[in-house]
Amino acid sequence: MMAYWRRNSQQAQAAAEPAAAVGLVSEPARPAKTPRSRMMRQYDLVERVRSYNPNTDEALLNQAYVYAMKAHGEQKRASGDPYFSHPLEVAAILTDLKLDDATIVAALLHDTIEDTEATRTEIDNLFGPEIGALVEGLTKLKRLELVSREAKQAENLRKLLLAIADDVRVLLVKLADRLHNMRTLEFVPPASRRRIAEETLDIYAPLAGRMGMQEMREELEELSFLTLDPEAHAVVMQRLNALADRNQNLIEEIESELSASLASKGITARVVGRRKRPFSIWTKMERKSVGFEQLSDIFGFRLVMNDIEACYRALGIVHTTWPVVPGRFKDYISTPKQNDYRSIHTTVIGPGNQRVELQIRTEEMDQIAEYGIAAHAFYKDGVGSPTELLKRESNAFAWLRHTIDILSESANPEEFLEHTKLELFHDQVFCFTPKGKLIALPRHANVIDFAYAVHTDVGNSAVGCKINGKFAPLSSELQNGDEVEVLTSPAQSAPPSAWETLAVTGKARAAIRRATRTAVRGQYAALGRRIVERLFMRAKIEYADDKLTGALPRLARPSIEEVMASVGRGELKASDVARAMYPDYKEERINRFGEKKSLAVKLRLKSAPSEPPRHPVAIPIRGLNSDLPIKFAPNGGAVPGDRIVGIVSPGEGITIYPIQSPALKDFEEEPERWLDVRWDVDETTPQRFPARLLVENVNEPGSLAQVATVIAEHDGNIDNINMSRRSPDFTDLTIDLEVYDLKHLSAIIAQLRAKSVVSRVERVNG
Ligand code: MN
Repeated sequence: MMAYWRRNSQQAQAAAEPAAAVGLVSEPARPAKTPRSRMMRQYDLVERVRSYNPNTDEALLNQAYVYAMKAHGEQKRASGDPYFSHPLEVAAILTDLKLDDATIVAALLHDTIEDTEATRTEIDNLFGPEIGALVEGLTKLKRLELVSREAKQAENLRKLLLAIADDVRVLLVKLADRLHNMRTLEFVPPASRRRIAEETLDIYAPLAGRMGMQEMREELEELSFLTLDPEAHAVVMQRLNALADRNQNLIEEIESELSASLASKGITARVVGRRKRPFSIWTKMERKSVGFEQLSDIFGFRLVMNDIEACYRALGIVHTTWPVVPGRFKDYISTPKQNDYRSIHTTVIGPGNQRVELQIRTEEMDQIAEYGIAAHAFYKDGVGSPTELLKRESNAFAWLRHTIDILSESANPEEFLEHTKLELFHDQVFCFTPKGKLIALPRHANVIDFAYAVHTDVGNSAVGCKINGKFAPLSSELQNGDEVEVLTSPAQSAPPSAWETLAVTGKARAAIRRATRTAVRGQYAALGRRIVERLFMRAKIEYADDKLTGALPRLARPSIEEVMASVGRGELKASDVARAMYPDYKEERINRFGEKKSLAVKLRLKSAPSEPPRHPVAIPIRGLNSDLPIKFAPNGGAVPGDRIVGIVSPGEGITIYPIQSPALKDFEEEPERWLDVRWDVDETTPQRFPARLLVENVNEPGSLAQVATVIAEHDGNIDNINMSRRSPDFTDLTIDLEVYDLKHLSAIIAQLRAKSVVSRVERVNG
């Protein structure tokens, strides 16, 4: 059992075991919680500090330990542990970061002013004003959390940053405090658990990352992930474990092969392998929309070198020993990241033909990569206070100061958002709902992603949006601080399938795919139902869902919906359905003109008075947003006013042809594919339908413009124009356009014929 935090109390004890020495970090099902019997002793804490700071003020630490323990007295945590175990563990986390005495003492005291009888004055008197100020900063933060739970998260963040303005060590204690609370989150009621985990993922984890504290960030992310999506976490863990089983010893083998090839060139390096954490794997799968197998960088290796020169020499050896994966090389040593991170990154096809991601850096860079701003705060005797050190050495600290300066100058939160907000999270954008809820999205996300982040139903029914009060397309890329109002329509039950390619987030894409799949299935089921009902009407037998339910086993379909969808898709014939329901049903074949072909041996209802009327069984056709899977004749279209017929194609739905279309000849031998259809156009909401014209044009300058103008002036919508020159004098134009109906189309044709540049106009029926 060990937590991600490499040097936490549990792992320090496990460090003597060989497995831990290799450096492979494995993930526990649940991070370790401190068993009551193993609460750290006063002596343990002092020892931990002394191990990195021989000059520690032991008396001060002891005094703080005793003071906090007495102050919290009999108080208990949600877990039933004595309350004091919490500040003690927070202090222990900070000893992992090798922080100075004042920070450790502040951690021990961090909840005393708020939760006990202790006062600032008393703490000042006992521990001095420096520690008093730290504890007071932490107290302010805690009060802030309590009062502003309902307030905007951005405002919270602003106050958080302001509260740490005086001393960055407040932030370090706050992050450790949050980390311990996350480690013990399972004892908190489920409702608050979620809120705390969301806040951690939205604010504290990115803040830790921005401060360069990657270990802290990763553990906060893992714990939030485990709380917010335990199923996804379990899935990734399962895959990781399976992979580990399949590749037993792979990490060790790669480690020793890397070490050996470096050693053969006279370079010593500390080689540490690890597999990625579930959260980073999951976000990569979501962001890139790829499956687990497609992820190349499950395994990462770190080569920690003595100096910068050795880093580049190691890089040379790696690149000449194994094939390099192109596009993965990054040199953050020559160009450090904003949070002070420095390292060389590359990916090679390494030992065992396994893609491995390598990070090459020095010990010092490694410290900063893991502990960020806290690495600068390492106790160093005689070089001034940690804050002094930070001022000189840390970009992350400079960023923090800069942010805080802007904060102090700008009066309102909007201005804050405008300038800085969220430079903090440089790969994210932060937007707001009209009610002020913060929605965090990856960079380049658009309104569709936003809508699905708010709620799946909002995404599915989104028809428009306003960004900062102005109408905008749903595909608009969002900027930090945008307030987004999504306009929804109950009439839209499923999103256009094209959204799937527009959406950036995996969440939105998956939801769109699910919704369109359901909608398409619904369309096929509706079509199937009409086909079945039509057959039953023709045959004059009664259709009833109940009766079909009884016949489901014979059709090998789980539900009526599934039967209908199968008929709609052409996988099942309507006559099969009839036969399943009425075993003595005989198929009656009717050709396209409604005449019976005489294959029925004996029609059950032959004495019926007359053919059923055509119209009641004809399927009403609306338009392309129909609830049926329809298309219009690909070469020529069809418009209301045309007499039409539907041709069913398996898996494609119905294609609507005008009855005069020559293409229908191809289907003459398959009368079962013919469907009676009729127009069902709503006059109040006019829709356009496709048609094709062939226009023979006199070749003179501007003639094409004249044709296009006529069509536009008469409210025709040109989709496409193809030109072919027939002779020096004439050009044939094939024009695909959209019109409301046959009358509209005829009017356009008449207007075109009136033009002198037009010699001939014909409608094309494909
Ligand atoms: Mn606390």
